[in-house]
Parts: sequence; structure tokens; C-alpha cells
Amino acid sequence: MMSAIAKALKLIKDEEIEYVDVRFTDPKGKLQHVTLVSDLVDEDFFEEGFMFDGSSIAGWKSIDQSDMKLIPDATSVYIDPFYAEKTLCVHCDVVEPDTGEAYDRCPRQIAKKAEAYMKSSGIGDAAYFGPEAEFFIFDDVRYSIAPNKVSFQLDAEAAAWNTDATIEGGNLAHRAGYKGGYFPVNPIDEAQDLRGEMLSTMKRMGIKVDKHHHEVATCQHELGMIFGGLVEQADNMQKYKYVIHNVAAAYGKTVTFMPKPMKGDNGSGMHVNMSIWKDGKPLFAGDKYADLSQEALWFIGGILKHAKALNALTNPSTNSYKRLIPGFEAPVLRAYSARNRSGCVRIPWTESPKAKRVEARFPDPAANPYMAFAALLMAGLDGIRNKIDPGPASDKDLYDLPPEELAEIPTVCGSLREALEELEKDMDFLLAGDVFTKSQLEAYIALKWEEVYAYEHTPHPIEYAMYY
Ligand code: GLN
Ligand code: MG
Ligand code: MG
Ligand code: MG
Repeated sequence: MMSAIAKALKLIKDEEIEYVDVRFTDPKGKLQHVTLVSDLVDEDFFEEGFMFDGSSIAGWKSIDQSDMKLIPDATSVYIDPFYAEKTLCVHCDVVEPDTGEAYDRCPRQIAKKAEAYMKSSGIGDAAYFGPEAEFFIFDDVRYSIAPNKVSFQLDAEAAAWNTDATIEGGNLAHRAGYKGGYFPVNPIDEAQDLRGEMLSTMKRMGIKVDKHHHEVATCQHELGMIFGGLVEQADNMQKYKYVIHNVAAAYGKTVTFMPKPMKGDNGSGMHVNMSIWKDGKPLFAGDKYADLSQEALWFIGGILKHAKALNALTNPSTNSYKRLIPGFEAPVLRAYSARNRSGCVRIPWTESPKAKRVEARFPDPAANPYMAFAALLMAGLDGIRNKIDPGPASDKDLYDLPPEELAEIPTVCGSLREALEELEKDMDFLLAGDVFTKSQLEAYIALKWEEVYAYEHTPHPIEYAMYY
């Protein structure tokens, strides 16, 4: 059988590839790249990798020890759909140049270690991830005024109803209003063709895709990918964002994955569906609550127990906590249910044991997918290893509970500040098997404190309304 490297080299030759785009993900989750002339790309390139200056990437090395090495993963190659010159892209892992060991702050290495740790634990042979990242498309002249106009309304109800249409003069006809985007056909759905082009582009890059649709909020959308392995899906999430941004840009639009761009309408989540298989069988299917297995319930127990520390990785922006409030299909309460969507974990209904999975609903698309998926898996595995009981399911709409009962249910974090403090207190479950390291998590926390300070130290427009 031909090796992945031989296949990649053959592709470069057969497709007359001009350039090879070397890509990696930084700690904040941003895809970075550098482009090489393809003549230089040979077997050595894939095996030996190549050097770059890591000191210019936020959260990596200091200037005095800046040399780092990228090792291309030949199994990850795809042809770039946007560049004018024919270019093969490859996702890379960062290693220490002297020892060749995985660099502990490389998110993709963390994801690989989490997958390996799960296998070595004997709990399962494969973990499958199905992320659903939502996003907003703006810049159309009809909507470009909406985010700031709506966000700075003091009164939530007023903001909810005063969309751009009513604020900026009159009836704009067939536009999705407040929570009105799910699922009317065009012309209310104004982005059918745009989403179609995004999804087809992803398909041509080799991603298994299944659907696209308008989401609940004005200008909000979602595309569907078929589930896959942890590293594979984190790679795919980077491609997903890349394609969505670039197709939108080609049409003079701009996309944001920020979790709550508009006050008074739904925010963008990145629900993460997860399941584990062992010996060719689905480990999460069984005869307990919602046809789950005992292992699946413990997995949920681990997610709920560590949810606040997880927030630092799955909801890593100051804006993330503006989404995690009641009333917008985003979770606040650390509860689980097969039926209602107001808890942190939902068990989607399925008749097929093979499709049995748990859906974590608190993550959002600001997350670095490699680190977020790895952390979720580590929390779930901790639940299974320590038989963490998730308690009874919450099948009522949790917000209909009497206030005393509601107050009993623990919640997710209310701010990035709180999430970083929680991660500092609760990181051991991530350190198992050296998947995450203490120094890596400390560096990550320091990086994120800078965002907390920037946010907390900046006067906000709404403060002028409230206090000027
Ligand atoms: N937008 C919602 C969230 O913030 C999810 C809505 C949905 O997919 N049903 O998680
Ligand atoms: Mg969905
Ligand atoms: Mg959705
Ligand atoms: Mg979902």
C-alpha cells in the first residue's frame, strides 16, 4: 500500500501543484500559514519538517528560544479552493527542534494525545465528534447597521423587537425578524446560494457534509458535517471556518463566529456531539436513561462535574458569556436531558444504537477546536474512570421550575474571569496521560487573562447610556 507521504507527493506531481501551504493552529485557535514552492517539497520535507520562528505566535516561545519545527501530516492534505495558483495545503504539528518531541503548547498535538490517551486507557478504541458551529453573515447593507444598533439597547424587550428594520426606517419586507430565521424559505432565507457554495466547496475539499440551513437569529446560519475522529474533526472545523470566511468575503460579506454578536437574539453555539466505540460496538448505547449505557451516564457526569473548568477552553472569549444566558437555546444550568435543550448536555433522540451520542451544548465557535474537543473527551473519560454519577435527568423545562428549585441547580461560568479561575482550580483531569501539561495550561490562562483585562478595562458603550 502506498504511504500517505507517497500519495501526497504523487498528488503534487499529477495535479501540477505550484505551492504547498503549510498550516497550523495557534493557541487562540487561529489557522496560520506559510507558502512554499512545491519544487522544494520531497520526502524529507514530510519526514524532517521545517523550521519557523515561534516567538511571533501569541502564547508560544519567547524570543530567546524561538526556533520551532513544523512536521506536516501527510494524511491531512487538500487542495486550496481559493488560491489562484494551484496549492496543496497540509496541516502540521509543532515539535521541539532538538528532541523532536511534541511541543506541549501545540493544540493539534494535544488533540492527538487525547485520542491516544483514550485508546491506551482501554475505555474505547475510537471517539467520534460531531461539532455544529453556528455563525452570522453580515455586511449586507441591510444588516451592517444591526449589530451595534441592537447591542446597545438598554431594554432587552425593546432590543428584541427593534431589529434594524424597525430602527432604520420602515418595513424591509421579507427579512427574518427576531428569532425568525428557522426555517422559512427564500426570500426570508437570504443566503441559500451562499451557504450552498460554502458546503459544496467543503465537499470538494474532501469533507463529508450533510446539510445547511438558516439558524434562528437574523443573519445566522449553520452547515452540517458528518461526524469523525477527534483530530479529523478539529482539522475539519478549521477548514469549515476558512471556507465560510472566504466564500463570504468573495461576495462582499463578512462572517463572525463570535458567540453573541447581537443582544436580544440567539447567539452562536458549537454543540459537540460525542460517542465512544469499543471492539466495534457503540459504548454509549444501553438500557439506562434515554437508552444510554452506564458508561455514557458517567461520561455525562464527568462533563457536568468539570463544566466550569471546561468553559475556559470551550467558551474562551469574554463574549462567550453573553450567550450563556436564559432564553436563547443556550445552556446555563449544569443538567442533562433527552428532551429539553436548556441543560448543558442533551441526548439527541435516535432509534439506532450506532448513532447514540451525547451532545455538549455549552461550547461555542470561539473555541480552539483541538483543545476544546480534547478537554471534553478528558472530562468524559474522567467521569467513566471515576464512575461519576450525573444524578437524575432534568426533563422539565428547567426555567419553568419554581425559583427555589432552580437555584439548587449548579450553573456554568458567568464570565471568562470566572472560567479561568475555575480552570486554575480544576485542571488535574486534563493532565492525565500528559495530554495537557500544567505549564501549557498556565501559559494559556495567562494569554486569556490579557483578554479579560482588555475587556474589563475598556469603557463600554452601554456604560455611557447608563452612567454618563
Ligand atoms: N443558537 C443556539 C445556541 O446558542 C442553538 C440553537 C440550535 O441549534 N437549536 O446554542
Ligand atoms: Mg445543528
Ligand atoms: Mg444549530
Ligand atoms: Mg445541536
